[in-house]
Amino acid sequence: MQNTVTPTHCPYCALQCGMNLTPAADGTVEVSERTDFPVNRGALCGKGRTAPAVLSSRVRLTSPLVRSDKGTLVPATWDEALDRIAGGLGRTRAEHGPDAVGVFGGGGLTNEKAYTLGKFARVVLGTSQIDYNGRFCMSSAAAAGMKAFGLDRGLPFPLEDIPRTGCVILVGSNLAETMPPSLRFFTELKENGGTLIVVDPRRTRTAEQADLHLAPRPGTDLALALGLLHLVVAEGRVDEEYVAGRTAGWEDARAAAMAHWPEYVERITGVPVPQLREAVRLFCEPEHAMVLTARGPEQQSKGTDTVGAWINLCLATGQAGRPLSGYGCLTGQGNGQGGREHGQKADQLPGYRKLDDPAARRHVAEVWGVDPDSLPGPGRSAYELLDALGTDIRSLLLMGSNPVVSAPHAAHVEERLKSLDFLAVCDVVLSETAALADVVLPVTQWAEETGTTTSLEGRVLLRRRAITPPDGVRSDLEVLRELADRLGVEKGFPTDPEEVFEELRRASAGGPADYSGITYRRLAEENGVFWPCPQLPPQEAEEAHPGTPRLFLDRFATPDGRARFVPVSHRPTAEEPDAEYPVLLTTGRVVAQYQSGAQTRRVDELNAAAPGPFVELHPRLAARLGAAEGDPVAVVSRRGRAVAPARITTAIRPDTVFMPFHWPGEGRANTLTNPALDPTSRMPEFKTCAVRLEPVTAPVKNS
Ligand code: SF4
Repeated sequence: MQNTVTPTHCPYCALQCGMNLTPAADGTVEVSERTDFPVNRGALCGKGRTAPAVLSSRVRLTSPLVRSDKGTLVPATWDEALDRIAGGLGRTRAEHGPDAVGVFGGGGLTNEKAYTLGKFARVVLGTSQIDYNGRFCMSSAAAAGMKAFGLDRGLPFPLEDIPRTGCVILVGSNLAETMPPSLRFFTELKENGGTLIVVDPRRTRTAEQADLHLAPRPGTDLALALGLLHLVVAEGRVDEEYVAGRTAGWEDARAAAMAHWPEYVERITGVPVPQLREAVRLFCEPEHAMVLTARGPEQQSKGTDTVGAWINLCLATGQAGRPLSGYGCLTGQGNGQGGREHGQKADQLPGYRKLDDPAARRHVAEVWGVDPDSLPGPGRSAYELLDALGTDIRSLLLMGSNPVVSAPHAAHVEERLKSLDFLAVCDVVLSETAALADVVLPVTQWAEETGTTTSLEGRVLLRRRAITPPDGVRSDLEVLRELADRLGVEKGFPTDPEEVFEELRRASAGGPADYSGITYRRLAEENGVFWPCPQLPPQEAEEAHPGTPRLFLDRFATPDGRARFVPVSHRPTAEEPDAEYPVLLTTGRVVAQYQSGAQTRRVDELNAAAPGPFVELHPRLAARLGAAEGDPVAVVSRRGRAVAPARITTAIRPDTVFMPFHWPGEGRANTLTNPALDPTSRMPEFKTCAVRLEPVTAPVKNS
């Protein structure tokens, strides 16, 4: 493999930038430009460029670890570690029943791993208790997309369409920091005469690029969208022909929006009426327009309704299901899209089938060679699952996630993990969650294994193995196969990713996310294929289905082909400020770190750029607190206290503070966040909670 250039994709976010990897003589791996992939055309952010550093990190795990009698983690053989896991999970199942065993996956797992993990939970363990951290990422957009369009795919069009539309409203996305290479699509949009509107409580690097920046109070963008729709109606900008021909439910949605007159919306959001009018003008004047949402509107206890309100705006103006227009969600995690399509989500079977649909159960059970009645029903959502640890759920197998840092109300989640009878974690480093485990298994990383991911565009991609993994590590697929063997299921768990994908194709065939026409050979030759991509009948087999870059152009995926308006109204967040907690906290990311930081905090260059957490606050708030730049500030919510240095800026509203969530320890932002759940998506309200600020005199200790 020496000096062989392998075209592949970044391990981190859902943009899945293309890159070339070349093994060097000293055992490291060099990243070089891969210009043939149209999404990033060679550009990479610092995270992608430095991703190989984690492959050879000095803290990389290369031996299984087991908890000793003295309570410490000590090296063990693979057989010893696997026997312990099978014993721990099996004992819980025997003593408390299958639903006392939980499984928690991750949006970074490949499609093959997510598929196999879901199958392992349901066929080997027989548990309904499986969910994954993607629930924290985009589940509100998924739920709203299902309601409105009958299908959930992050973007219903390729990113390459963005420069050719007329206006984009970007809601709660700071992609200049989260997905920097994607910014060029918006730069090109502006160069082509289009406009960019950014909705964000902070003047982020992305907002600085906007023609119009709307800065609503956190948690009020539902009202903002309703106010815009009110103006669309009042100004006679509804596309009546489109609404009559391609939608249903307009009258109820219209009535709900008309209750949100502009002055009322200004009072709720803080966005002045003239800015609302300007946003409507910019959005409605061009022939084509788009709305893209990200975690801002989605990570709320009303996230599904909030996204639904933005979709209503698109539908009323005829900007959905037409070329160069539509609503899309900028999915966050590397395989957040594929991870929710193939069975690690609590209510789903592969192919985006529903677990409570008898026909779906029959189809998948036949592929798996089991009785449909043996498959458990839907389980708990991610936070509810974590909250049940140590009570209903006694043992947990966790792959590709670090909830001690990334879950809301993280101190509580940490306590729940500690209260388990047995915890097994598969990871590449000793994450904060792995450090609590009874057994830790060291597993292969992106460049050491082959597998597929599905990007935010719905483009299925092939990540190729570029180097040999170090001695002592095994793939997640090998782990699941070994555990299945030990738990009495000797067949049905192949370790070859392509073999798993062939089975996934059959399991997904005929489902909403149909991958049956996609093969590894096609992925290698075609630079990815957009789902749905069914396998064509034998008489047409010479003509492979081309995949579906653009959805809904002829009809939406609802029974009658019409999109559904969903009537929604403004309501407060789960925790509004009061006298005791008078300030709003919002959380997010910085460019040099990724999610819980389990990987990126192991990269020197990224740590130098983003060494630790901070509290971003307005000078007026800082003055009231008596805090200067860099002073430690305590942020206190009803759930706990976090301390980090002040970063004072006028780029944030005076009633709001911001903390990035990548770090553990005293500055852990998720110590503060509110696990209040959206009633439909079960998404926790990461994006806003009530806090108070306190000065700190002792030095800050972080991570
Ligand atoms: Fe990787 Fe995302 Fe950065 Fe691209 S933008 S290099 S996919 S982290």
